[in-house]
Amino acid sequence: MVETVGQLSPQDWLIHADTHAVIAALTAEGAVARFAGGCVRDAVLGLPVHDVDIAVTCPPEDTLRLLAVAGIKAIPTGFDHGTVTAVTSSRPFEITTLRHDVETDGRHAVVAFTDDWSADAARRDLTINALYADLDGAIYDPCDGLADLGARRVRFVGDAERRITEDALRILRFFRFYGRYGVPPADVAALAACRKLAPLLDSLSGERVWSEMRRILEGPSPSEVILLMRGEGVTDRLMPMALSPGRLRVLAWLESRGIVVPGVGVSAVRRLAAVIASGDPLADTKRAEILASSWHLSKAERGRLLGMLSTLPEGLEVTVDMPKPVARRGMYRIGVDRWRDRVLLAWAEYRHCHGAGGCLPGARGSAAWEALLRLPETDAVPDFPVSGRDVLALGIAPGPGVGMALSRLEAIWADEDFIHDRPALLARLPDIVNETEGCG
Ligand code: ATP
Ligand code: MG
Repeated sequence: MVETVGQLSPQDWLIHADTHAVIAALTAEGAVARFAGGCVRDAVLGLPVHDVDIAVTCPPEDTLRLLAVAGIKAIPTGFDHGTVTAVTSSRPFEITTLRHDVETDGRHAVVAFTDDWSADAARRDLTINALYADLDGAIYDPCDGLADLGARRVRFVGDAERRITEDALRILRFFRFYGRYGVPPADVAALAACRKLAPLLDSLSGERVWSEMRRILEGPSPSEVILLMRGEGVTDRLMPMALSPGRLRVLAWLESRGIVVPGVGVSAVRRLAAVIASGDPLADTKRAEILASSWHLSKAERGRLLGMLSTLPEGLEVTVDMPKPVARRGMYRIGVDRWRDRVLLAWAEYRHCHGAGGCLPGARGSAAWEALLRLPETDAVPDFPVSGRDVLALGIAPGPGVGMALSRLEAIWADEDFIHDRPALLARLPDIVNETEGCG
């Protein structure tokens, strides 16, 4: 029997009627249900709680039935592993039957259900993730996670090597949670186990690796974590290219604390670009392709990563002293999102190489970079006011010539700083059509 050791301060999610309804349903026939893992940990720290996970002593078929009886929508999201999601109007609750691992091969686990809270805690990864609380806010702490949380100590439940051998993903989870909750020095036993067992990372699926790497990169001090991982030989297994934690450090600072600019926030993909870039677009494109395919990045993530590392069109280069019209044309050509990404990366590189003041006198460096970053707000480019229909209206037959004429006019419009309005552009269209017809 695990005793309570503390009390959560009042929490919105804890007093919410939906939470009470779900717990009432689960416990209607005598089962015990407690909040588990991240929600308790973050509530203890006074951080916002995102997901509310519940551990329950009844088997998943009972969970489904009890929720149905109470009129709560239930989805068997991971039924074989004991997980059912209760969907309420305020939030989903992931409800998992207490488990212990019967068999593990480093990637998959065969689990058995139990009603033993200590056994359920023992199969969790870190002591700070093995906390439970009941509806009254009473905390249960079978692995001394509260003391570790207070000391910002991130360590495995039980023997670090054994826990990593059971599931190699825990190496990455250790670094992720250390980055978010830990303070130096990192747990020596954990680091030694991560170093020794880093080769096991090769057996993990790309999706699982990227899911953890993304969160490591999104953390509050990703460069420190990457440095630590590199020191233990972990990044060598995952991203065996020269890394630039220095550039990442500056980028992460800019994104999260250094500046407040609309449209700019923390981005794992941008941070990934910052840490792998070598400055050679050909080599960097190759690196990006390798990571995108081995980690199964989504099409959008892959496109964005390549957009940050590949050569820009028409010799465009983002520099702090670029004249505004050139910058504006560049922004128009590559699009606002890619523009912001490229400015931030170039700024991070510049500041990483030249220090806070940069090469320019005083604080001008930063002001000039920020002006480039704000260009989408301060100097937004209007939509191109001419369309294919206008070309067709001149009697041109549909076909590639229409697009060619339109692109030519658009390029002229951009080169002349977007000053011409629709009537002025339409007046030039016949000449351009004649020119491009000659080319076609
Ligand atoms: P976050 O706020 O990032 O979601 P979390 O603690 O909720 O943090 P999850 O990845 O959602 O983390 O996992 C929920 C809980 O499940 C963890 O707190 C931990 O107890 C347990 N857990 C998750 N993955 C593992 C794993 N690979 N090995 C052991 N326990 C795990
Ligand atoms: Mg969670």
